[in-house]
Amino acid sequence: MRALVTGGAGFIGSHLCEALVARGDTVSVLDDLSTGRFENIEHIPGIECVIDSTMNQEIVRDMVRAVDVVYHLGATVGVQLVVNDPIHTIVNNIWGTEIVLEETCRYRRKLLITSTSEVYGKGSREVFQEDDDRVIGPTNRHRWCYAASKAIDEFLAFAYWREKRHPVVIARLFNTVGPRQTGRYGMVIPTFVTQALRNEPLTVFGDGKQSRCFTYVGDVVPALIQLMDRSEVNGNVYNIGSTMRVTIEDLARRIIERTGSSSTIKYIPYEEVYGEGYEDMRHREPCLKRIQAAIGYEPKTSLDEIIDSVIADIRPRLHRQAIENRPAYP
Ligand code: UDP
Repeated sequence: MRALVTGGAGFIGSHLCEALVARGDTVSVLDDLSTGRFENIEHIPGIECVIDSTMNQEIVRDMVRAVDVVYHLGATVGVQLVVNDPIHTIVNNIWGTEIVLEETCRYRRKLLITSTSEVYGKGSREVFQEDDDRVIGPTNRHRWCYAASKAIDEFLAFAYWREKRHPVVIARLFNTVGPRQTGRYGMVIPTFVTQALRNEPLTVFGDGKQSRCFTYVGDVVPALIQLMDRSEVNGNVYNIGSTMRVTIEDLARRIIERTGSSSTIKYIPYEEVYGEGYEDMRHREPCLKRIQAAIGYEPKTSLDEIIDSVIADIRPRLHRQAIENRPAYP
């Protein structure tokens, strides 16, 4: 199988590329290196990488034509980036996906699109099922532009499936974490681990009672590959995540414990971090019935194992940084 992975130099994309190459696929990557890093994939044998945007239609067309299947992970992600750069987020996420849909449809290449639990919005529920209503905040709150842009991507994908029978499947990812995820764009686990390893206060936003279910990237990647390999999932959307809930406050405590840090916890109001009118999701957990029925999905990695994997990734980076006086994640 020849596969194109957009966003392949990113955190999840690079783990996907590794898994595809390990099973004998030929992999090419299209990545604009906005949040991805070449360092994430340079060790993978035989990988081809084009540094460009999914908004460059000619490049996308050439790359799609040369492969059998396309994994579309390339997007503007991370709350911090989205809040700071809403125009780019909206245009890149919608236009880039439209181009990938158009070109994969032209050549009849199966397409997997990664979406996000953000599309559920703030919801009245705590456990989200694929067909639940979505509750998105007002259009003048930048946070929601990410959810809205990814929801448009999903609408487009369903439209291509219905109107053109284009084989496409959507994976809604819930708080995926693991090695190579950077804290630069707000993601909480690499941020806390870095703070703990430096013995700095862990910055818990709000009251810390909000909860999330963190999923190990190594549990997500095989699910993406199985969704690609099976045709009966086409035209459908699947949650991928875990149901191990933890409050952010407890997460901070566990990270302090597992790093052996002398850090304390510092509570910071949301307004101080993101400005006036920021809205956070209180709780967020996926319903996994649909993905379980489709591919027998079961996340295996515990939260402590996840935390330890991130510590093992970040600790040597911080050592190198201290020696070479450069950022742990450039
Ligand atoms: N968070 C935090 N401190 C940080 C970064 C994030 O308390 O330094 C909180 C954030 O407000 C959210 C949760 O941790 O409630 C998860 O944040 P992340 O950005 O990792 O994912 P989200 O679920 O918001 O997409």
